Amino acid sequence: MTAKKPRKPSLQNKDSWKRVSPASPPIFQTSVYNYPDLETLDDYYNGKILDGYIYSRNGLPNAEALAKRVAQLEETEKGVICSSGMAALFVALGSNLKSGSRIVASSDIYGGTIVLLRDELPRFGIETLFADVTAPETFENVVKTEAANVFLVETISNPTMKVCDVREIVKIAHRSGAEVIVDNTFATPFVLRPHHLGADIVMHSGTKSLGGHSDLTIGVLCGNNDLMTQASRFNTRIGAIAAPFDCWLAVRSLSTWKIRTEVSCKNAMKLAKFLQDNTTKVVSVNYPGLDSHPQHNLATELFTDEMYGSMLSFNLKGGFNEANTFIKKLKKVTLTPSLGSVKTTISHPGKTSHRHLTEEQKRAVGITDSMIRVSVGIEDYNEIEADFENALQKT
Ligand code: PLP
Repeated sequence: MTAKKPRKPSLQNKDSWKRVSPASPPIFQTSVYNYPDLETLDDYYNGKILDGYIYSRNGLPNAEALAKRVAQLEETEKGVICSSGMAALFVALGSNLKSGSRIVASSDIYGGTIVLLRDELPRFGIETLFADVTAPETFENVVKTEAANVFLVETISNPTMKVCDVREIVKIAHRSGAEVIVDNTFATPFVLRPHHLGADIVMHSGTKSLGGHSDLTIGVLCGNNDLMTQASRFNTRIGAIAAPFDCWLAVRSLSTWKIRTEVSCKNAMKLAKFLQDNTTKVVSVNYPGLDSHPQHNLATELFTDEMYGSMLSFNLKGGFNEANTFIKKLKKVTLTPSLGSVKTTISHPGKTSHRHLTEEQKRAVGITDSMIRVSVGIEDYNEIEADFENALQKT
């Protein structure tokens, strides 16, 4: 008896997934693509095949889908996806600057960013001078004496919630020939789209509210075609790319992003008012939506539909011990050193995001031992307030 020949796999069936139209986009979990011959490969490298892929570091479909979505939200021509917010910032700076370049940054900014500027970039010959984001003239004073290449600011600062007048910063920067990078992580495009106000590059830690569920790490840059092509090339060369699954998760999250953000902004406004009214335990509340915020009028002028974001911070009466007691007394809200989740979380900037600042730096921007930063989620507001009320009573 002759052995049965194994059946050849049908070519038609082999790629059947390519002919269907899934309702949810597939995760392209591949690091590389097949090419039929060297001519086609050349066409790819020479830019004749514009919608193709070759190797994950050069670009991948899930990242491209995400980049398009965020660029739409930020109303810019193009986006670039990186492996984290810090990677995105490094790509934005690294694709623009060289040894001898100078940055003027707001001193009110995420602690990780300060550490990058203060402790790492000087080794590459890049110097940073700090200015006060609430007084744009201090940026002007810097560039009067020292030429700068980039201005770096956060729209709403982490963790003190100062508001950047992006229009003024852009005016001063462009007058002096510098580009403006705006970290829009706290505000999100729901509250403000800095490119509209002239910012050159808008940056996000997509790990935060764009992702929204504390389950992915991603960074995003948005801007015009030229700057983004330059950033994308630099990212390919240094390899700070995001994984397909994280990009896929982020795209899925963006379909509910607007609804989530609206609810969390409304909850944040209520919680800010509640905390402000508790004069027995709370010294001060930082939230741009409060009349008491020194830049409330500016925020109202700049922000969309009186939405002031989902982040706030407050100072308890007392010091570190009171902050620690308060944290321990919370039942549902957790101490989670990140932000932007559907769930309300708190953090202690002095011990987490800004722990590497000197005591003097912390004092200068207003970070105290009793400061609690809150990332307000989308739970039923009464549940959030009840947890805060109970913990405050026991502090
Ligand atoms: N920018 C801001 C305002 C942040 O709060 C953070 C992180 O907390 C980052 C950038 C860095 O983002 P990532 O942790 O995704 O690198």
